[in-house]
Amino acid sequence: MRPAAAVSAHYVVDEDGTVWRLVDEARRAWHAGRAFWAGERDVNSHSIGIELVNPGHEHGYRPFPEAQIAALEALAHDVLARHKIPPGRVLGHSDVAPQRKQDPGELFPWPRLAAAGIGLWPDFTASAEPGLATVEAAQRALAAIGYEVAVTGTLAPETEAVIAAFQRHFRPERCDGALDLETARRIARIAALSP
Ligand SMILES: [Zn+2]
Repeated sequence: MRPAAAVSAHYVVDEDGTVWRLVDEARRAWHAGRAFWAGERDVNSHSIGIELVNPGHEHGYRPFPEAQIAALEALAHDVLARHKIPPGRVLGHSDVAPQRKQDPGELFPWPRLAAAGIGLWPDFTASAEPGLATVEAAQRALAAIGYEVAVTGTLAPETEAVIAAFQRHFRPERCDGALDLETARRIARIAALSP
């Protein structure tokens, strides 16, 4: 996040673990901006926004300190329990706005948080999903997960941005927007878990 954008989230978690509550949870915050998830365009009215202090991809993106992640884990645990939010509805801003946002990004420890019940992280090594044979199949699967993507059958820049967003969340070793075999396999795996 950029510090100037911080005022629009419900919470901001600083690198030292300090949690700032900026907007009451009952009120709409503007963290997502123009966004989309699973048919819903008004993401701001249907979500609790948490930003993590970090210089961000354009200004020296760096690892999230332990104190920050520990504080986030406690906060998210509390928010999820109070609002009965399922793990699959814990999303990155890059997930709901893949054409505009990259945060929290490939350094965010999704597997660790998922182990605490925050977000999805299946055992990808154990999954039997064969992967998706075509771009069209991958686009359908990404749309089934919740991403805003048109099913065109071709790899235009918009689709590549969505694939890169998926990778930032579920395949952080590779965030190039390319639909390689492993990325296709993971897309199929997460789609299989989606309602
Ligand atoms: Zn953000």
